[in-house]
Amino acid sequence: MSLTPEQQAEIEAQRSETRPTLRATAPGMEAHLYTAHPVLDHGLVRVIDYMGDDSAITQAARVSYGRGTKAVSDDRGLIRYLMRHWHSTPFEMCEVKFHVKLPVFVARQWIRHRTANVNEYSARYSILDREFYIPAPDQLAAQSRVNNQGRGQVLEGAEAARVLDLLREDAMRAYDHYEDMLTPDEATGKLGLARELARMNLPANIYTQWYWKVDLHNLFHFLRLRADAHAQYEIRAYAETICAITRDWVPNAYQAFEDYRLGGVTLSGQAVGVLKRRLAGEEVTQETSGMSKGEWREFTAVWG
Ligand SMILES: Cc1cc2nc3c(=O)[nH]c(=O)nc-3n(C[C@H](O)[C@H](O)[C@H](O)COP(=O)(O)OP(=O)(O)OC[C@H]3O[C@@H](n4cnc5c(N)ncnc54)[C@H](O)[C@@H]3O)c2cc1C
Repeated sequence: MSLTPEQQAEIEAQRSETRPTLRATAPGMEAHLYTAHPVLDHGLVRVIDYMGDDSAITQAARVSYGRGTKAVSDDRGLIRYLMRHWHSTPFEMCEVKFHVKLPVFVARQWIRHRTANVNEYSARYSILDREFYIPAPDQLAAQSRVNNQGRGQVLEGAEAARVLDLLREDAMRAYDHYEDMLTPDEATGKLGLARELARMNLPANIYTQWYWKVDLHNLFHFLRLRADAHAQYEIRAYAETICAITRDWVPNAYQAFEDYRLGGVTLSGQAVGVLKRRLAGEEVTQETSGMSKGEWREFTAVWG
C-alpha cells in the first residue's frame, strides 16, 4: 500500500477530529475508522462510516424503545439464535461503508455481489495511477491439477523469475502507452486521446478504487463466500481483512457468523441419513449412500 504524505495527513486529520453524538458507537470500530489496512501489494481497506453495533441487532429483533439490551448474555444468546435460524433482517440494521483499493480483476469478482452500494473511481474523469498487482512469490503458482478453478504448485527458479518479468514488463509497457496516448503535444499538433478511451489497453492487474456500502447480513454473505478456502487468494485477502474489522465492530454477531456459517457445514438429507446409519454402526459406502461421487468426496472430506 502506498499512501502519499497528503493522503496520510488527510486520514490523520479525520482521526483527530471528534464529535459528540447520541448515536450508538462501537469502540472496536471507532479504532478502525478511516485507518488504511494494507492488502496485497498496493491495495487497502478502510472504514469510512458505520451504523449500529451488536445492540442494534437485538434492539431491532425486539422492536425495542430503548437500547434493546437486557443482560449482555441475553443479547449474545438472541444473536446466536437469530443467526442459527436464518432470521436475517435484524442483521440488516447495521451498515458499513468501506473505501477499497483493489486490482481490476478482483473488482470483477467483488462486483458480482449485487446487494451493496458502489461508487468507483472514474477513469473517464481521472488518470489511473501506475500501480499494478504483482503476486508475491508464494502466490505465483501453476494451474491446479485437481481443481479447474484454482492454483497448485508454487513456481520456482527461472520460471518464476520469467513470469514476474513478463508481468512487470507488460504492465509498464501498457502504462507507458496509456500515458503516451493521453498526452497532447502542441508542438506536433498531437491532441491526445480521451481518458475514457486510453484506459482500454490497461491490464486487469491495474488498481482501481471504490466506496462500498453494505448491510451486515449481506456483508456476512460476501464474507462467507469470499473468506472461504475456495475463493481466489486475492479476494480472500480482502475478505480476511474485513473479517478482522467486523470482529471488532460486532463481536457477538461475528462470533455467531464464524460458528454457524464460516465454521459450520450444511448437511443434505442424504448426509444426515448417512451419519445416522454410521452412528448405528452400519458401514456406508458411496454406492449405498445415495450421494454422487462429488457429494461423497465433499462429505468424507469433512466427516472422514
Ligand atoms: C468460489 C466462487 C466461484 C465463482 N465462480 C463463478 C464463475 O465461474 N462464473 C460466474 O459468473 N460467477 C462465479 N461466481 C460468482 C457467484 O456465482 C455469485 O455471482 C457471487 O458469489 C455473488 O453471490 P450472490 O449473487 O449470492 O450475492 P449478491 O448479489 O450479494 O446477492 C445476495 C442474495 O440476494 C439475492 N439476489 C440478489 N440479486 C438478485 C436477483 N437479481 N434475483 C434474485 N435474487 C437476487 C440472492 O438470493 C443472492 O444470493 C463465483 C463465486 C465464488 C464464491
